[in-house]
Amino acid sequence: MATERTLSIIKPDATERNITGKIITKLEDAGLRVIASKRVWWKKKDAKEFYEVHKERPFYEELVAYMTSGPIVIQVLEGENAVAKNREVMGATNPVDAEPGTIRKELGVNIERNSVHGSDSVENAKKEIDMCFSNKELVG
Ligand code: UDP
Ligand code: MG
Repeated sequence: MATERTLSIIKPDATERNITGKIITKLEDAGLRVIASKRVWWKKKDAKEFYEVHKERPFYEELVAYMTSGPIVIQVLEGENAVAKNREVMGATNPVDAEPGTIRKELGVNIERNSVHGSDSVENAKKEIDMCFSNKELVG
């Protein structure tokens, strides 16, 4: 197994309910280490750029509106197998389908307001980390 880095976002539904600490605890308990973190409020342009891969999907415009509806916490997580590990702790996209104990099962509201984002591959993690952080902000 390799040490990897992945991008994590705590979404507006979670910052609104004041459960960022609960989420970070679950990530840390799984062996992931936060090596960069910032709380920001995205403009439409930021969300559109980040979710560009989904621009043809029917949920894109709503997703952009949702991700700009409140503050978010963007983090870089580091650890063994971090990309897959983070996805495992997050659970399936739709909280209804997520495994018991996962963030989305326990804390997610619905398929859109599902509390967290996580990169889906090492390659996309690199792209997303570059989009959100400068190298000097990564302080593992
Ligand atoms: N999403 C949505 N409706 C859908 C599928 C996804 O609103 O039918 C939102 C949801 O917030 C999801 C994000 O779009 O987390 C990105 O979708 P993706 O398929 O990449 O899911 P993820 O990788 O986040 O599990
Ligand atoms: Mg995805």
